[in-house]
Amino acid sequence: MMVALAHKKYVSQFAMMGTVISLTLFDNKPALVERVYDYLQTMTNVLSANDEHSTLGRINQQAGIAPVAVDATTFAFIQRALAATRQYQDSFNVLIGPLVKLWKIGFGGQTVPAKSAIATSLQRMNPDDVVLDATRHTVFLTKRGMQLDLGAIAKGYFADRVKAQLQAAGVTSGIIDLGGNVQTWGDNPLTPDGRWHIGIQDPDEARGEALLTVVTPAQSFVTSGVRERYFQRNGRTYHHILDPQTGYPVRNDLLQVTIMTENSELAEVLSTVSFFKGPQAGQTLIEQLPGVDAIFVRDNGAVELTSGLAPQTKGVYQNVR
Ligand code: ADP
Ligand code: MG
Repeated sequence: MMVALAHKKYVSQFAMMGTVISLTLFDNKPALVERVYDYLQTMTNVLSANDEHSTLGRINQQAGIAPVAVDATTFAFIQRALAATRQYQDSFNVLIGPLVKLWKIGFGGQTVPAKSAIATSLQRMNPDDVVLDATRHTVFLTKRGMQLDLGAIAKGYFADRVKAQLQAAGVTSGIIDLGGNVQTWGDNPLTPDGRWHIGIQDPDEARGEALLTVVTPAQSFVTSGVRERYFQRNGRTYHHILDPQTGYPVRNDLLQVTIMTENSELAEVLSTVSFFKGPQAGQTLIEQLPGVDAIFVRDNGAVELTSGLAPQTKGVYQNVR
């Protein structure tokens, strides 16, 4: 029997967090759109690393001085971010703030910092120097100069929360796109099989130009790439994914990694980690993780996909997990 696909889609866009955020719903729910907007606006104020009055800014201001109390949800998020840091410390480290501030990549920085300044920053990134009090919900960076920077993971957290909030409000399907970080949920009412068709950004083309398409049940897609924030100096390119071991931008032949899995926060962590590991070790890692797939794009144009993504037609891959 043919089922008529009578659904409309309602796309709302807001400029926020230095990007364009887009929310797609399949019912006209302006009050819910407003709620998502307000939530994201609030969260920017809570977690911005560039605003000393944000919750994160206060934690950083009080480094070496005193613990700072945060709300329970934020506390749990910071706890998870630090757990991921302990797990993947050689590549993913949310205490990277001092290095990010030093390089200022994407914030007008155009010079390579002095070796001594890099060495000093590297001393301030040890997760053992963070004291979390789970009863009082306080976060204490115990050494002066330490700084939390949740830039590599915050959008994944927001995407998961927006999905959960809308599901709780009875919205059975939708897309939240936080600029390179896409979360989908439920069945796509616009396709006969309910699957979603997700375009993966072409790193050599303008935002929105797809390199390939993935057809899948609801998943999150997170891309880490080096083409959006960087500067060039003496013939070398310095981009914004920094190596927490050396203090310099990571160097390999990757342009971009996309992680596909249900939880967007996890996808964020794994996109940074896989970027570091490179296509070979990165694929080995991802193959070991249930429910996770990855797409690696090298600077020679080669594209490598993990085994859960099978070619369907030209430029289209299917989630076969
Ligand atoms: P984007 O979506 O902007 O490409 P990513 O998710 O790739 O961001 O994260 C990059 C941001 O994360 C940087 O701008 C910086 O704030 C922070 N960062 C850079 N290197 C690391 C790292 N190795 N571990 C954790 N955070 C990092
Ligand atoms: Mg990330």
